[in-house]
Amino acid sequence: MAPIRFLRLALLMAPGAVACSAGGERVEHLFQSPDAWIDLTHPFNGEAIYWPTAEPFELETVAEGVTEGGWYYTAYNFSGAEHGGTHLDAPIHFSEGKNTTDEIPLSRLIGPAVVIDVTIQAAGNPDYLVAVEDFEAFEAAHGPIPAGAIVLLRTGWSQRWPDAGSYLGTTVRGEEAVPLLHFPGLAPEAARWLVQHRAVAAVGIDTPSIDYGQSSTFESHRILYAENIPGFENVANLEAMPETGGYVIALPMKIEGGSGAPLRIIGVVPGR
Ligand SMILES: [Zn+2]
Repeated sequence: MAPIRFLRLALLMAPGAVACSAGGERVEHLFQSPDAWIDLTHPFNGEAIYWPTAEPFELETVAEGVTEGGWYYTAYNFSGAEHGGTHLDAPIHFSEGKNTTDEIPLSRLIGPAVVIDVTIQAAGNPDYLVAVEDFEAFEAAHGPIPAGAIVLLRTGWSQRWPDAGSYLGTTVRGEEAVPLLHFPGLAPEAARWLVQHRAVAAVGIDTPSIDYGQSSTFESHRILYAENIPGFENVANLEAMPETGGYVIALPMKIEGGSGAPLRIIGVVPGR
């Protein structure tokens, strides 16, 4: 698939390095087009939404201001759960023996993106489950989901960030909050359809979890992660991504042995 080769070139070569070829000109154009790059990451701050039982993000001041020597110096410590804010789920999160955060091949974190838009279906139903029919409708319009694709589920939920009440369905925290969670997710039958019929690299969603808020068995997590397919959760700005023709670069903090990690995820849309 030519566009994939093109993006690989784009990622491997510095601007100006390949001006002699047509591909090189396209790469140069990409680096000169700010509109081609989309930040799909929510900021990590005191408002960042974490699972109700998880340790939230914290930034502790180590130094901030002018030192006795007369120069300015700032530094912080940060802490928080792996699974909060925009983050990666490594397959080992729900599947013993599968990839930890540092073991996930880059080919699952960088690739062509397809966006499955269920914004309308989810608007009136916070318990919406992305269904096999949604994938079939996408494919009827755009053709089969290609091998190696990063599948992004766009529910419209990121517009609610950082209002925890409307994003999670509750402002309660702790164990008693878990049964009160309401947000869309991926239906287990649809997760099964993806692993049985398509060879996707990863699955991302603009809600707190691949499984919907009312799930108590996390079946879609288990189905995907058993196949070493990682998840991206709390993804931002999916409305800025085209349904096809874009690419994703999703680079988590490389926590050795981790079950997930904070994630900087961006979209790239050549031609913008
Ligand atoms: Zn997670």
